[in-house]
Amino acid sequence: MRIVKVYGLTIALLVSLCLSFNLTAKEYFVENKQAYQNIAQRLKAGDTVTLKNGVWENFEILLSGQGTESAPITLTAETKGGVIISGQSNLRLAGQYLVVSGLVFKNGYTPTSAVIEFRRNKNELAFNSRVTEIVIDNFNNPDKQESDYWVALYGQHNRLDHSHIVGKRNKGVTVAVRLNNEESQQNYHRLDHNYFGYRPTFGSNGGETLRIGTSHYSLTDSHTLVENNYFEHTNGEVEIISIKSGKNIIRNNTFFEARGTLTMRHGNGNLIEENVFIGNNVPHTGGIRVINRDQFVRNNYLEGLTGYRFGSGFTVMNGVPDSPINRYHQVDNATIENNTFADVQHIHLAAGSDAERSAPPVNSVFRNNLIINTSGKHPFSVFDDISGITFSNNLINQAPPADIEYGFKRQEIALQRNDSGLLTANGKAGASSSLQSTKKSQTGVSWYPKKAPETAFGSGRTHQVEASASALLMAIDKAQDGDTLELASGHYIVPKLIVIDKTLTVKARHHGKAKLSFERTALFEIRDGGNLSLHGLSITGQYSPDAAGNSVIRSQKWGMLNNYRFVMTDSTVSDLNINHSFNFFTTGKGAFADQITLVNNTFNQVTGDILSLDSEIEDLGIYNAEYVTLTDNTFSQIQGAIVKLYRGGTDESTFGPHFDMTGNTVDTAGNGKRNKRNASLFLHGVQVTNIANNEVRHSAPVKVEHTVGEPITSITNNVFEDTSAPQVEELRMPGPHTATLHNNRIVASEKR
Ligand code: CA
Repeated sequence: MRIVKVYGLTIALLVSLCLSFNLTAKEYFVENKQAYQNIAQRLKAGDTVTLKNGVWENFEILLSGQGTESAPITLTAETKGGVIISGQSNLRLAGQYLVVSGLVFKNGYTPTSAVIEFRRNKNELAFNSRVTEIVIDNFNNPDKQESDYWVALYGQHNRLDHSHIVGKRNKGVTVAVRLNNEESQQNYHRLDHNYFGYRPTFGSNGGETLRIGTSHYSLTDSHTLVENNYFEHTNGEVEIISIKSGKNIIRNNTFFEARGTLTMRHGNGNLIEENVFIGNNVPHTGGIRVINRDQFVRNNYLEGLTGYRFGSGFTVMNGVPDSPINRYHQVDNATIENNTFADVQHIHLAAGSDAERSAPPVNSVFRNNLIINTSGKHPFSVFDDISGITFSNNLINQAPPADIEYGFKRQEIALQRNDSGLLTANGKAGASSSLQSTKKSQTGVSWYPKKAPETAFGSGRTHQVEASASALLMAIDKAQDGDTLELASGHYIVPKLIVIDKTLTVKARHHGKAKLSFERTALFEIRDGGNLSLHGLSITGQYSPDAAGNSVIRSQKWGMLNNYRFVMTDSTVSDLNINHSFNFFTTGKGAFADQITLVNNTFNQVTGDILSLDSEIEDLGIYNAEYVTLTDNTFSQIQGAIVKLYRGGTDESTFGPHFDMTGNTVDTAGNGKRNKRNASLFLHGVQVTNIANNEVRHSAPVKVEHTVGEPITSITNNVFEDTSAPQVEELRMPGPHTATLHNNRIVASEKR
């Protein structure tokens, strides 16, 4: 009887195999776009289309047809990675059981709203289809503010897996799951084993890596599974993953040194489990943020996270009573259990509590979690009534806050690292000791390198440059990314704008003996791909054009897509006074610096600003620099401001700007009649400010304007001589300002 049954099954399987291996299935080898168009309309179940290796320029690919589970319609590359899709290109899938693999999208951008879209148009969607082993690398619209998706999932039962997605710089979510019609809801999509590489800080809202749903459809269930993906330096904005729908599962993903959090922004009944967050104490690394009903957060591992407020290692939000669909629904029935928080600096409970967000969490539990902090401090901050969260059986090594002490056992716990490198308390509390993290090597494709995102200064070769402008220009032209140019002593009178479109270091062979002047409106212009580091130079404006508005350095005037870095140390800058409004550094409109750092330089006689970083006039929160650092510099006779740094708007999606000014000497700054801010330092909407140990004389005051995001400002241990006290103003929040001003000495003028 048993044998007959097995025999019968085998026959049935063979019959179905014969039926599915349709004799009419064709294999097409396609050599050009026209050949593809010729066959694209008549693809049948079981057909395979292979694209010839090479670069396919301006290729809008539509793969449509009705495949079957056993006989899908397949589009692939002659060799994986051998087919480059470039120029204005995209891929759309429509129909059933379609599979695409092996393509590389680079050196171009999509002319439509997505690079890869699981639909042809509003009516023709893809189902049961798969995109696998695809690369999308820096396939950016050249207009940074032009929004698109790189992958947009519509329909149902689709899969994106083993793909390598890196370098999105323009606006818009990298991967979006859309629920905007019934056929795309309860979709059971699967996103797994993808490598999400570097996404630079976008500098305003719109830099999420993955979003599932939108607020509009957020009470609909999505049932999307996000599993075994690797998120590395996905730094776009405060939300790495923004869940805006119900019943999703986010399981066993790794977040490595990624700024931002996995946020349950809208929608109910999501399961977040077995994820691993490794921050390595990188600024703004975050974990999980809980909002809405019926969320399950269990068996996750979080270590070395520094983020705070909505970007904390762990956040439970307050809600808005009877919240509109796009605001904050109250946390109700959240289960938070068996998670490990190791050196997570901040766990914020009832976060965002204010007049609007006044509904604290209810019916929730926080149990069997392990909280270890080697800093000597517990990580909790409580912003409202948290009696709606019941704490039990948690283990902690520091004294917890008194009102939740009942739910914790405090003890020193001997931890061990398991074979995945994760700390474990061997089952006493926290994540399972057998939890394994998803490794980078298990994600993406094997045939495309997962490179370091940025070239470091000084990582290339060093070239000697003889003392002439033409030698300098030629050396810059010939240098490779990461190279260093060492300038012989002498005077370089540069007749042309020097374009910096790679990572370059320029230094004097003998400190202070390489002098640069310039005959154009700027000496250096940093363009896309450019980063500049200067050391030991002497720069003057004495041969600059006699016109207003020169700069020593500027970033590309408009339309800059890439973030950049600028560093200058041990240099002198003088005589920027041939005409008015001569800045040392001027940002281009919409340009964004990851870092501007000035250390131990001397600036003298400047008619404009040192750092002019306030190109934003629209108040959309599109600011110009993330980290601005001034250490041990001397400024004298500066008619404009030392720094103007402006971040407008009311959105709370950004981390910065950050401003640090320590140990500088300022003599006579900000008093010029064209300096409309009437300040020696003007900071608007800056999120983190530290001004310490500076001596400021005969200057206009420091002005700080707070807007949104609970900015942190500290002005301490400075001397202000013949200079008004710093002015801090709250522009959005009622009440006194929140800055810390401590131990500053305001003294009357001494003899000049
Ligand atoms: Ca956002």
